[in-house]
Amino acid sequence: DGEVVHCIGCGAKVQTNDKNALGYTPQSALEKGLKSGEVYCQRCFRLRHYNEIAPVSLSDDDFLKLLTSISETDSLIVYVIDIFDVNGSLIPGLHRFVGHNPVLLVGNKMDVLPASIKKTKVRDWLRQRANAAGIRPVDVELISAKTNFDVDRLLDQIEKYRHGKDVYVVGVTNVGKSTLINSVIRRSTGIKELITTSRFPGTTLDRIDIPLDDGHSIVDTPGIIQPEQMAHHLVGKELNLVTPQKTIKPKVYQLNPEQTLFFGGVARFDYETGDRKHGFTVYAENNLYIHRTKLINADAFYDKQLGHLLTPPSDESRVADFPALERHEFKTTQKSDVVIEGLGWVTVPSGVVVSGWAPKGVSVLIRPAMI
Ligand code: GDP
Repeated sequence: DGEVVHCIGCGAKVQTNDKNALGYTPQSALEKGLKSGEVYCQRCFRLRHYNEIAPVSLSDDDFLKLLTSISETDSLIVYVIDIFDVNGSLIPGLHRFVGHNPVLLVGNKMDVLPASIKKTKVRDWLRQRANAAGIRPVDVELISAKTNFDVDRLLDQIEKYRHGKDVYVVGVTNVGKSTLINSVIRRSTGIKELITTSRFPGTTLDRIDIPLDDGHSIVDTPGIIQPEQMAHHLVGKELNLVTPQKTIKPKVYQLNPEQTLFFGGVARFDYETGDRKHGFTVYAENNLYIHRTKLINADAFYDKQLGHLLTPPSDESRVADFPALERHEFKTTQKSDVVIEGLGWVTVPSGVVVSGWAPKGVSVLIRPAMI
């Protein structure tokens, strides 16, 4: 008891509490391992037995060390983001750590977007957001790691931009980086040669290298938790109710001025002022409950129904912990999307005043309409 055990695969300190953190080992596996004298963390176990990468997150400190070590390399950086949660995908300070290395931006989860959305617009939007964050990607690729859409194309682009160097794949948690790496592993022939031994300098963490033909590697890195994700306000099944799982079916609401839409209890949209009734198109998870009410009744309705009619939060026990919604007002001068990061967006006409509401920290912003 109290003795520190290290994983013999990656050297991480073994712990049995936090599934998503380094060194997690189920209690039963730890006991078995101690008997046989070989303790593997769950991540290394899965890698050894199933050639499968499990997501893992790092503390800010270790992550900074990791980024610093990447800035000292001569490599291509593949930066994976969730197209549905660009703000929640941002790695704080990434631009300082890429050094002189080129960044290939990868927008994941394309499978949730309806076919009517123009890819060039999605690409432009992502590039603009990257630029605003101080990153100038050499290119932007749009993929779905889940359905493998354009993953082969991404691998071709990586080959084109890496110029014979190593490739570091970075991303915050929940963007689908592990899903992508697993897809890449399935595509690469040298599965058995997956390497887990060379350490990131200055961290407790070993890198996972997928060997390339010329002696170089694609290196998976741990994710970091981005606290501004909607996902962090949700638990268990709540997340699946909010995160689009399948291709979104847009829904049109004919709203009069001073009408409100609630998206479960996690977000809200108000059509405040405008000349007349307009159609507002909602892009969100198909099964998310959307409730229409009058703006004047909206606050009282929310207070009364949060955790009841308006879920998530899943029930009353979760209401106390649930962050208050914050209001962001916009006046449109062209057809626009009001984006609630991690949830989706509402397409609104020109010449109206609207508000988007989301939990404090989750960003709400406006862009020219994507359709
Ligand atoms: P990581 O934390 O970045 O490694 O993310 P994971 O690979 O664990 O994925 C996080 C969540 O996003 C999981 O629920 C995945 O099923 C889901 N996901 C990953 N890639 C995609 C994708 O291309 N499309 C969709 N719809 N979901 C995805």
